[in-house]
Amino acid sequence: MNGRINQALNTQIHMELESSYLYLALSAYYDSKDLPGFAHWMREQSREEYGHAMRLFDYLLTRGAKVDLDTLGKPADGFTSPVIAFERVVAHEKRVTEAIHKLYLLALEEGDLATGVELQWFIQEQVEEEKSVSEVAAQLRWGNGEPMGLLMVDRDLAKRE
Ligand code: MG
Repeated sequence: MNGRINQALNTQIHMELESSYLYLALSAYYDSKDLPGFAHWMREQSREEYGHAMRLFDYLLTRGAKVDLDTLGKPADGFTSPVIAFERVVAHEKRVTEAIHKLYLLALEEGDLATGVELQWFIQEQVEEEKSVSEVAAQLRWGNGEPMGLLMVDRDLAKRE
């Protein structure tokens, strides 16, 4: 595997692990606000992000490329409200989508078609991620941060498998 692609994939593994860490921090935050549905949803999301990192990790190993894990930064904290914290999630997923699109374009530019195919799964996954988080954010905006609105969304999020 070409060095640029190898490095970029390691950077993406790092981003997925930091995403996992961010969602874990958010899970604890929502739990502290007595919103168990949100806390559950964030914990599942954290697990899913870890899965994304492992998918790329395994891909590098399969290709005989180098895995180069980096330091994880302290995740964001100081969330000011349950609604604002969720807006951060939407912004975060948009950044992840951008990073994956750039990575895909790099793979094509370098003629690494196998990596391109691998990344197509991630491109589709981001469409789903953005859809689900945008829907929740929209419901929260409707609820205007009122307790009843929050509790209804919380009950919904508790159902995530
Ligand atoms: Mg991800």
